Amino acid sequence: MKKKAIVLLSGGLDSATVLAIALQQGYSPVTLCFDYGQRHRVELAKARALSLKMGALEHREVKVDLRQFGGSALTDEIAVPKGRTDGEMSAEIPITYVPARNTIFLSFALAAAEIAGAEDIFIGVNAIDYSGYPDCRPEYIQAFEQMANLATKAGVEGTSKFKIHTPLIQMTKAEIIKKGLELGVDYSLTHSCYHPDANGRPCGQCDSCLLRKKGFQEAGVVDPLIQIGIQE
Ligand code: ZN
Repeated sequence: MKKKAIVLLSGGLDSATVLAIALQQGYSPVTLCFDYGQRHRVELAKARALSLKMGALEHREVKVDLRQFGGSALTDEIAVPKGRTDGEMSAEIPITYVPARNTIFLSFALAAAEIAGAEDIFIGVNAIDYSGYPDCRPEYIQAFEQMANLATKAGVEGTSKFKIHTPLIQMTKAEIIKKGLELGVDYSLTHSCYHPDANGRPCGQCDSCLLRKKGFQEAGVVDPLIQIGIQE
């Protein structure tokens, strides 16, 4: 029987690639997506569609309203930065940082894993292209993994040894895209934009849109969102 894994799936390019990698490694993935009050909630439907199409065991959508705290351009009425250069993006932790988001998400994933009898959690963090977020760094992931084994009944009793898998952590966006295409990921089903219009169309100018564009350019591949006329 295949081993179950919890895969954090946002509906974006990175997490879709992570799901493909988990499947390739022989896991039976339960995908976990968060309705956290994000302004770009179009990604929730994308995550559901990706999970179904790619053959996950189950998809779960968890509601946790981070708008209660705000403080991020992704959850609050704060302008999303547009048209920034690579240097500007990496100069400081951007306003699109959502306070403690990966810790909150990974904590839910850990609870889901313990209940499901799964030891493996996959997350699409990346420390290379866009390293501005503190909760995307390898040292953070290692610390969380250690904490996970201290914090759970399964960890303490030794029935599970939790592992946080970060297959993209040292990859460039172009490498991620190439890997995903090799594994058959349909990137037309993904959403990257932080500030889409009312119809869910990407703005083309936020950090996430620009990194996606650069990634496809460097990979020498046309973004399928352009081909179907969604992305400028
Ligand atoms: Zn955008």
